[in-house]
Amino acid sequence: MLEIKNLHARVAETGTEIIRGLDLTVKAGEVAAIMGPNGSGKSTLSYVLAGRPDYEVTDGDILYDGQSILEMDPAERAAAGVFLAFQYPMEIPGVATMEFLKVAINSQRRARGDAELKIPDLLKKVKEAAGTLEMDMAMLKRPLNVGFSGGEKKRAEILQMMLLEPKLCVLDETDSGLDIDALKIVADGVNALRSPERAMVVITHYQRLLDYIVPDTVHVLSRGRVVKSGDKGLALELEKNGYAGVVGEAA
Ligand code: ADP
Ligand code: MG
Ligand code: MG
Repeated sequence: MLEIKNLHARVAETGTEIIRGLDLTVKAGEVAAIMGPNGSGKSTLSYVLAGRPDYEVTDGDILYDGQSILEMDPAERAAAGVFLAFQYPMEIPGVATMEFLKVAINSQRRARGDAELKIPDLLKKVKEAAGTLEMDMAMLKRPLNVGFSGGEKKRAEILQMMLLEPKLCVLDETDSGLDIDALKIVADGVNALRSPERAMVVITHYQRLLDYIVPDTVHVLSRGRVVKSGDKGLALELEKNGYAGVVGEAA
């Protein structure tokens, strides 16, 4: 479903290269964990997948369902089923969360050739998903992410993911800012989306999240490249020995 080949990407403004020859393959149905020390390029990888214009791809390719997405803008990628849950979700003053969800869901449906959802159906769907995440419906009247706690922002990201039903889900440090109860609830939401037609890239600094979202594969990022891949045992090894061992070994 996702094939990243020798990807090189830099910050457009300064030309600083962050992703330096990254290779990664994620099959449909697979949950791939990306781990790595701070500053290794995890968030940058997620931005480049989503098509954020502040970054330039200078070499390599990103294939999604066998097609290069490099020429697609973020909206086209989203319409094609690529979803990014941000490490630091953006606050959108003046746009009620419910209104945002309505527009996002219906533009996604239009892009897929489906009819727009009628308000009662939309409400029912949103209520159901919000219930799974134990979110208060009153929150949906507030502007998106404005004044939300860290945990509420992360839940709002997963709520969007559940409602948009993407094919490729990229979650950037969804565990950061979550206490253990919230982590379990969010993980349940993510696990409910696991399916043979969907691939997930779960980015995390800590092993903890992977106790709840058990990955099929684990990849360690260092200086913008995947330096080691393995199964979930690799995450436990990292927890025990730290990144220095694995990263040093690869260097
Ligand atoms: P991670 O998510 O793994 O902690 P990031 O992808 O956020 O890492 O950052 C990787 C490296 O790229 C860091 O050294 C960071 O300072 C640098 N970086 C990211 N964005 C920019 C930018 N816009 N300008 C300059 N350096 C950047
Ligand atoms: Mg970081
Ligand atoms: Mg990051």
